Amino acid sequence: MAEGRITTRTREILRRHGLQLKKSLGQNFLTEDRVLHQIVEAADLDEQSGVLEIGPGIGALTEHLADEAKSILAVELDQRLIPILDELFVAYPHVKVLHGDAMKVDLHRLIDEHLGDCERRHVVANLPYYVTSPILMRLLEERLPLDSIVIMVQKEVAERLTSEPGTKAYGSITVTTQYFTEPEWVTLVPAHVFMPRPQVDSAVIRLKVRRTPPVDVRNEALFFRVIRAAFGQRRKTLPNALAAGLFGGERKGEVTAWLDEAGIDPKRRGETLSLEEFAQFTNLLDERLD
Ligand code: SAM
Repeated sequence: MAEGRITTRTREILRRHGLQLKKSLGQNFLTEDRVLHQIVEAADLDEQSGVLEIGPGIGALTEHLADEAKSILAVELDQRLIPILDELFVAYPHVKVLHGDAMKVDLHRLIDEHLGDCERRHVVANLPYYVTSPILMRLLEERLPLDSIVIMVQKEVAERLTSEPGTKAYGSITVTTQYFTEPEWVTLVPAHVFMPRPQVDSAVIRLKVRRTPPVDVRNEALFFRVIRAAFGQRRKTLPNALAAGLFGGERKGEVTAWLDEAGIDPKRRGETLSLEEFAQFTNLLDERLD
C-alpha cells in the first residue's frame, strides 16, 4: 500500500531536521488524515473558536486546526520542535507556538492573552500518554474558561472517563471528570496510525464542559477527598476505605452510620457509587463534621 501524505510529511520533516523522536515525551505522531479530521470535527470549530493545543509535535493536527479556528495557541515542551513549528506556521498569524510545559505554564493567563477575543474556547490535543491524567485534572480543576476538551488518549483511559458506576473501568478520575464535564466517546484509533507505533490502541473523546455541576455539593474540597478515599483501597469495604482515607482509619462506626443516613448501603463498594451518591454522602459528612 502506498504511504499516506502525513506519513511522508512526518518522515520528511524528521529527516530534514535529523530528529529522533523521544519516547519519554510521549512522541507518537498521528499519520492519518482521516483521524485528524475526526478530531477537528468533534471539536465543532468555527471562525469564532479559539484552540489551545497541547503538544503539537510537528504540527499535523495544528495544520487542520488552523483551517477551522480563529486563533490557535500551541504549547510544546520539546525545544527541538519549536523552530520546525515556527517555520511551518510562519504564514499563519493566527497560530501562536509557545515553548513550555503544559503542567507548568499559567494557562489562565495564556488563554486570556491569546484566546481572550474568541467566543468559544476548546482544548484539542493528542496528549502525551505519560502525563494524560495530570494534564486533564489540571484543565478541569483550574476551571479554565473552556467549552470543550477533545483529546486523544490511551483507549483504557477513554474507557475510564466514559464508564458507568459498578464497572471495572469506573474510578476517581471518572467521577471527577463527569462532575466537570459530559464525556462522549468519539472514535477508537488503532495503534498502527501512529509513528512510531505505540503498544496500545487509543481513542478520541469529547468532554463538554458543564456550566454548572450536575449535583449540588456544598464543600467541593471534601467531595474530592471522599472520592479519592472511596477508590483509594478498592479491596476494602466502603466504611473501611472512607475511614482510612478521611480519618486515618478511625471513626469507622460513625462513617457506617453516616452512609446509612445518606441512604447508601455500607456493604457496597466505593466503585458502585454514583455522582449523586458521592454528593449526598459528602453533604451529610460536611454537616456532621461542622
Ligand atoms: N500533536 C501531534 C500529533 O498529533 O501528531 C503530536 C502528539 S504527541 C502524542 C505528544 C506531544 O506532546 C509531543 O510533541 C511531545 O513533545 C509533547 N509534550 C510532551 N509532554 C508535554 C508537556 N508536558 N507539555 C507540552 N507538550 C508536551
